[in-house]
Amino acid sequence: MSPDNQMELAVPRALSKLPEIARNLYWAWNQDAQFLFIYMDKQLWEEVNHNPIRFLALVPRSTLNAALRDDRFMELYKAATTRYEKYLNATNTWFNKTYPDFKQTPIAYFSPEFGLHESLPIYAGGLGILSGDHTKEASDIGLPFVGVGFIYQQGYFRQKISEDGWQIEYWDNLEHALQPISPALDPQGNEVEVEVGLPGRNVYAKVWRLQVGRVPLYLMDTNLPHNNPEDRELTHRLYSSNLDVRIAQEIVLGIGGVRALRKLGINPGVWHMNEGHSSFMILERMAEWVEQGLSYEQAQIRVKDTTVFTTHTPVPAGNEAFPDWLIDRYFPQYWTRIGLTREQFINLARMDQPWGPTFSMPTFALAFSKYANGVSELHGKVSREMWQHLYPDKAVNDVPIGSVTNGVHTDSYLARRYQALFDKYLGKDWRDKLDDPDTWKGLLDVPDEEYWEVHRHLKRKLQAFMRDRGRKLWVTTQTHPVQIIAGGALLDHNALTIGFARRFATYKRAGLIMRDFDRLLALLRDSQRPLQIIFAGKAHPADEPGKRLIQQAYQAVKRAETAGRLVFLEDYDQNVARHLVQGCDVWLNTPRRPHEASGTSGQKAALNGVLNLSILDGWWPEGYNGHNGWSIGTEEQLADQEAQDSRDAESLFSILENEVVPTFYKRDNNNVPHDWIRMMKESMMTLLPAFSTRRMLKDYTNQLYIPAMRNSKK
Ligand SMILES: *Cc1c(COP(=O)(O)O)cnc(C)c1O
Repeated sequence: MSPDNQMELAVPRALSKLPEIARNLYWAWNQDAQFLFIYMDKQLWEEVNHNPIRFLALVPRSTLNAALRDDRFMELYKAATTRYEKYLNATNTWFNKTYPDFKQTPIAYFSPEFGLHESLPIYAGGLGILSGDHTKEASDIGLPFVGVGFIYQQGYFRQKISEDGWQIEYWDNLEHALQPISPALDPQGNEVEVEVGLPGRNVYAKVWRLQVGRVPLYLMDTNLPHNNPEDRELTHRLYSSNLDVRIAQEIVLGIGGVRALRKLGINPGVWHMNEGHSSFMILERMAEWVEQGLSYEQAQIRVKDTTVFTTHTPVPAGNEAFPDWLIDRYFPQYWTRIGLTREQFINLARMDQPWGPTFSMPTFALAFSKYANGVSELHGKVSREMWQHLYPDKAVNDVPIGSVTNGVHTDSYLARRYQALFDKYLGKDWRDKLDDPDTWKGLLDVPDEEYWEVHRHLKRKLQAFMRDRGRKLWVTTQTHPVQIIAGGALLDHNALTIGFARRFATYKRAGLIMRDFDRLLALLRDSQRPLQIIFAGKAHPADEPGKRLIQQAYQAVKRAETAGRLVFLEDYDQNVARHLVQGCDVWLNTPRRPHEASGTSGQKAALNGVLNLSILDGWWPEGYNGHNGWSIGTEEQLADQEAQDSRDAESLFSILENEVVPTFYKRDNNNVPHDWIRMMKESMMTLLPAFSTRRMLKDYTNQLYIPAMRNSKK
């Protein structure tokens, strides 16, 4: 290993760009770059869980030498590396063309998790995936942008399901030398470490740099020999249930994050808190102004004017709040710095809960953010109602919380086969205008047969992936045969396939489709027109009800009467998600409205021609147009949950029986379902441009970042 902790990756000189590409996550969404590794040794690529640094550390020299002599490989290498360099050096980005005067005012984006790729498991779920997609798109459109977060020692847990359906959690160690990170350097070229005060001690965090295309993420790590043992563990895992760990993590993220940027010589014009977990950044920025001589009120205006806060939680109880006794333990040193008394500080974010007074992180964030948004139109509306009590002089509609509906990063989820189809029918530059609905009209010219062939390929690929996993379990572990069947060994790639993959939380109602089990069995066991359903998803380790839901689903999956057509795919992560959103026919989503702030997995499905069958919650009321999928139930919300569930289940079954199944199985003489394909095309054409991060990031920029940047220049 070299002194800076990086693995030496020895390659022939003519392939010297490979290690460079491996150290920039650019490859994670640019298939031509990624394909270089797959081409050389597909099996090794799978074994290293798609980690190119690990790949290059292990690939035999003979494979590299063979690649050198392979003309086709060298052609691909040249094309991919040329495109990579062009990307890095481009100056004609959307941002530069649209806002040439704002290149020097970077946006600092804080998030406790970044879901960029399965080989870097520093994310838990939707929030992290959004941060990861946001970062990739910031790179694509040339936004001046830096991310701030953590590099965890172990990251989020991996999941196994026991024979009786209980979730078993285990953790992999994330070896830093095998990750695309390097120590972040200050302008003088020195490594950067920050220090924050915790009760009776200081804790230190080393700052790492992760390059994501054109933009850097700065990730903190407290696993340092000069920290005391429990502080070394602060960046061990995501979302501890231990409140002391949690609050200390958030002090490091918010306060340490600001200090890290300062040491790196970065002077952000905009500060974006993705969810309330990073809200303590406000304290550090307030202190900076107060220590320069501004009054508290003046400082607050400065901070507010340049701060963006995105909320993700539509239910009061889901919002993070720390009990006051914890605030008393951690914050005296901080409130005195900005000249507040205990009472004044506590009152900034006071929220009374049934268990006592608490300090509410979103309340604190809102008090210091001029720009605040929810993540879908419906969620914006719910948020204005939920937080109206903070603005007693304002009507609900005037509460200053808007919305920017989430999107997904197209290139990260779109199947390679579809990318090739688009190149052929839409012109090679479709990526440059993918948020323009007109770009997609050309899809109507694609012959249905050709379109269907791509989809069938993706279905076979998903099911082969599942069988391979089952085979591996069967060979290497003591897995019971019924678990191999439960994992999808008996799936049929010709059958209508529904995917249901999401966190197992009670409001997501995984059980809705099992409410009338006989009716479900009739659909599964129809010999002419069978249905099959693939479940996947994790429950938070501390969420017992969520785990019981997995167990219920798993027990149903194991029943012989389901004929192996109800299955559970373990260990949901970005790789599993990609296979599922590309290889199902229908994407099912059954949250209890309005608990789903946005949801993004259905957007990933839609862009691959997979049809959404969803409650009108989150993004779906904006996406659904009557022809591009189906809506379950209505927008009416019943107070009685039981009545709501039974009404929604009735609607779900009726749509399946009368619309989904008949349309899917209506075939011409060549076995092609034209009506279904018309819906697939409609889904892609309408949803891909609107629910892309391209559209989303332009919205953030036009509506939130640019006004904040203007303020910062004043
Ligand atoms: C997209 C994605 C999510 C978020 O999807 P939801 O629709 O919000 O459930 C969570 N986990 C993974 C791995 C994803 O890819």
